[in-house]
Amino acid sequence: MIVTTKQLYQVAYGKFAVGAYNVNNMEQILGLFRGNVQSQAPFIIQLSKGARKYADKRMLESLIRTAEKMFTDAIFAVHLDHGDEETCYDCIDSGFYSSVMIDASHENFEENIAITKRVVDRAHQKGISVEAELGQLGGVEEDIRVDEGHASLTNPEEAVEFVKRTGCDSLAAAIGTSHGAYKFKGTQGLHFNVIEEIQKRIPGTPIVMHGSSSVPIEEVERINAAGGKLDPSARGVNENEYLPAAKLGVTKVNIDTDGRLVWTRVHREFFRDHPEQFDFRPPGKIFVEEYANFIAHKNEKLGSADQLDAIRASL
Ligand SMILES: [Zn+2]
Repeated sequence: MIVTTKQLYQVAYGKFAVGAYNVNNMEQILGLFRGNVQSQAPFIIQLSKGARKYADKRMLESLIRTAEKMFTDAIFAVHLDHGDEETCYDCIDSGFYSSVMIDASHENFEENIAITKRVVDRAHQKGISVEAELGQLGGVEEDIRVDEGHASLTNPEEAVEFVKRTGCDSLAAAIGTSHGAYKFKGTQGLHFNVIEEIQKRIPGTPIVMHGSSSVPIEEVERINAAGGKLDPSARGVNENEYLPAAKLGVTKVNIDTDGRLVWTRVHREFFRDHPEQFDFRPPGKIFVEEYANFIAHKNEKLGSADQLDAIRASL
């Protein structure tokens, strides 16, 4: 069943975080639904502009609609990740998305507010939730690269004004994470003080954490042992920080990179160990299973596992 992100946040806020997972193909969608039903967790399916272009937005919609019929227990939101204004309107008008993200964070404060407000007005007319971004994360998101020097943490004072004037339902805040596989060097981590300051000023407004993959070292090592060349010093967010952050209002946690690492590891290892193979279904089958287990594991860390009944009761 498709619900809005707002409906999920009403139950989750201050208690646990809902996993938001990016998908691009059939295997990911199958594994995602399987893993969430397995762990009895509500979830958010995220479609980026890149995914909508890669698989064709109609193909993705059909796959998700079919998965909805196959997994009748599943409760989830369909969310546009990092939309521009035009893509937001396309999703709002489609009748399929229950939530969109408008990312005008590269604009100046006033322009960001103006664009976000326009999207919020149009989305709310149709009962669709809106996530908006304030502050800039470093790293690479789709084709946009933000150098660490230009990345800036969200200013809690500005966050108050931003949420008030735009009416957005949740706030993507820059709290120390970055996009992509190369996040933290050394001991850098989440800025809990910034999260706390934001929550203190706008209690009840769900905070969204982007770039929240953990980039497990074992995964990187296995990929490299099977011919990969990923930076072994790459570090992501410590999974044990998801829940403490959730208690402070981080209600949506975006995970993309870690899922890509699962795909890369499964396929590299499979073809390394079976060089005579050219059928992609055997590794595909392994991937669906591994991805489902990966999702179930993340949901445990986010606290969203076993929350499906609570969500169902609230609807
Ligand atoms: Zn993001």
